Amino acid sequence: MKIIKTQVGIIGAGPAGLTLAHWLKQKGISSVILENRSQEYVQARVRAGLLEQNTVDILDNLGLADRLKKEGQEHHGVYLNFDGQRIRVPFGELTGGRNITIYGQQEVVKDLTEAWQEAGETLLFETPAIELEGIETGSPKIHFEQEGGRGMVECDFIAACDGFHGLGRKSMPKDSYKEYEVTYPFSWLGILANVAPSSEELIYAYHENGFALHSLRSETISRLYIQVDNEDSVENWPDEKIWEELSIRLGTKGWKLNSGPIFEKSITPMRSYFIDNMQFGNLFLAGDAAHIVPPTGGKGLNLAIADVKHLVDGFEDFYQNNSRKELDNYSKIALKRIWRAQDFSNFMTTLFHKQDEHGSFQYQLQKAKFDYISISDSYKTTIAENYVGLPFDTFMV
Ligand SMILES: Cc1cc2nc3c(=O)[nH]c(=O)nc-3n(C[C@H](O)[C@H](O)[C@H](O)COP(=O)(O)OP(=O)(O)OC[C@H]3O[C@@H](n4cnc5c(N)ncnc54)[C@H](O)[C@@H]3O)c2cc1C
Repeated sequence: MKIIKTQVGIIGAGPAGLTLAHWLKQKGISSVILENRSQEYVQARVRAGLLEQNTVDILDNLGLADRLKKEGQEHHGVYLNFDGQRIRVPFGELTGGRNITIYGQQEVVKDLTEAWQEAGETLLFETPAIELEGIETGSPKIHFEQEGGRGMVECDFIAACDGFHGLGRKSMPKDSYKEYEVTYPFSWLGILANVAPSSEELIYAYHENGFALHSLRSETISRLYIQVDNEDSVENWPDEKIWEELSIRLGTKGWKLNSGPIFEKSITPMRSYFIDNMQFGNLFLAGDAAHIVPPTGGKGLNLAIADVKHLVDGFEDFYQNNSRKELDNYSKIALKRIWRAQDFSNFMTTLFHKQDEHGSFQYQLQKAKFDYISISDSYKTTIAENYVGLPFDTFMV
């Protein structure tokens, strides 16, 4: 049986696992990564694309942002539409110069994977973790499968960065955490299209037909979404129908939506889920393994990287000072940001989605909120600072 010894055994080569591995290396702490899927699959998986200021700064400080800086697009504001009226929330002037950057999650994963491999470090693809042993002891083990054989990672700590369906959360005793779950009564139909974006910044829109979002991936690729029913399927949405609906929902006077060939189409359910404890013994969860938010507001990937920051603080404290203080505080400090993100994602979701009849009491509340945002700099500031991500020193325990 193949046996690998390291300080931190990481499950999952998504944004959380890869960032953790690089950051631990910078601190002189060894780790290995096990990944269920193939390298090709992981690097082609289209998901998030909005990086908060904190995320960009972290990748930059790790020396992993060369391509991101060249190809990513920094955005200094966001447009909000309601019933065809458009306003802009500027970021920099309301947040002391903080902004967001548009750069695909799969590009982040590609950059971090290649840098890890070039450094000669261990990342085993197509190697699922199948069982965790001794998580309450000082020498936990990850059992894995590879090419029909079995192996084991012997480590001091296990970091489960293995996403929502991963093994980490399932390995924690059920009575060690409380679960929170909300399923929204709508989903997003998302497309990627080979067409220049129709706006240099994102547009979130409420329309009586439902929500729409105009986003982008590059100067030649647009990313757009529309609200659909949970039971809907992509077969009901031929390309012309999607463009027509986007044009109606995002429309304002004098603005035109560019359309072009669609090369990716999928439906994503809108859910909030999280548990109120992200550690048990020497097993720590980070990212989607412990929480998911609806994508309105773009918090998923950024929360995963924020967890990693607190986890690195904990491991550094342990290996440098022989103290568990920071590690024992990990859940508490991470959850402060997670609750904030859950609230902001819920705010953006309920403000822009059609939840009841157009003109209903619920609609009037949404409209009153939008009208207030349009006249209040304080309200715009609240949105801007949550959108670009609050600095780490905002959350203390
Ligand atoms: C379809 C979709 C669309 C999304 N769109 C957006 C968006 O527009 N904006 C936004 O902010 N967020 C979005 N998200 C959320 C965002 O992509 C996630 O929050 C982000 O991927 C979290 O990173 P992570 O590293 O925690 O988990 P993941 O990226 O899920 O990585 C976990 C990794 O662990 C691996 N793994 C799982 N089990 C095992 C095992 N047993 N052994 C070894 N490896 C394992 C998985 O293969 C995976 O590579 C989207 C998510 C999905 C699913």
